[in-house]
Amino acid sequence: MRLENKVTLITGAGSGIGKSSALLFGREGAYVIVNDLDATKGAETAAEIIANGGKALFLQADVTDPESVKQMVDTAIETCGRIDVLFNNAGISGVGALHELEPEQWDRVIRVNIRGVFLPSKYVLPHMMEQRSGSIINMSSCVAEIGLARRASYSATKGAVLALTKSMQVDYASYQIRVNALLPGTILTPFVENYLKTSYDDPEAAIASLKSRQLSQDLGTPEDVAAAALFLASDDSKFMMGSPLYIDGGAVFG
Ligand code: NAD
Repeated sequence: MRLENKVTLITGAGSGIGKSSALLFGREGAYVIVNDLDATKGAETAAEIIANGGKALFLQADVTDPESVKQMVDTAIETCGRIDVLFNNAGISGVGALHELEPEQWDRVIRVNIRGVFLPSKYVLPHMMEQRSGSIINMSSCVAEIGLARRASYSATKGAVLALTKSMQVDYASYQIRVNALLPGTILTPFVENYLKTSYDDPEAAIASLKSRQLSQDLGTPEDVAAAALFLASDDSKFMMGSPLYIDGGAVFG
């Protein structure tokens, strides 16, 4: 088991990639602190890990709210004594070309997708620095590097997360803390299904168009990304520092 005796905190683990990662981390022996804004979905993920014989605790928090995040990290430390892995996964979509976006729509995506990485990291890092160990995984996206139509705010956030990952890595390398980024392509989760439904008259044609921009014949699954998250969480990736890891079916070449 690759995460035996490790305490892992995953934000946005009530759904999609976060949920698959939480279930996988649980199967790999980790104590999984499941975070989500949605209490029902988050509690379900934790219950499923426990039902499968794993160890988990659900802590509701809004990753954009400092008090809420601090409280979550304090409770995690009181319960488990340490945090070995922080997976900053929570994020929201934003659809629209720049001129179509209202300032509030822009701010909302920036707030969740960037502040939502800043705050959990801010409160977890002092514990990792004291431990002199840790792995932080930041959720970026292939749109940090390739242009997709009408994804202005979302792409801006994911580019920022990739830059932040590199900056964090430099600041915390001397504490033996690794900070890496995941860059998924199109992964079929509720997030993408909702985006397809609300943004296109013909979701099937939209899926065909997304596939045409990658090399793989298939779109990704949450399990594909969870496997990459497990790699970055575990010592298997001990020589990866400040790196982008692509799980995108060759989208950068499509
Ligand atoms: P999802 O919508 O299925 O899950 C996201 C979870 O985050 C939800 O359970 C939601 O309740 C939670 N969340 C949202 N705001 C929150 C907040 N303020 N505080 C705490 N939790 C919050 O989405 P997903 O597709 O699994 O995406 C997860 C991450 O992966 C996101 O950061 C997304 O940008 C990124 N990503 C997804 C894809 C894709 O194709 N699905 C591709 C690249 C990157």
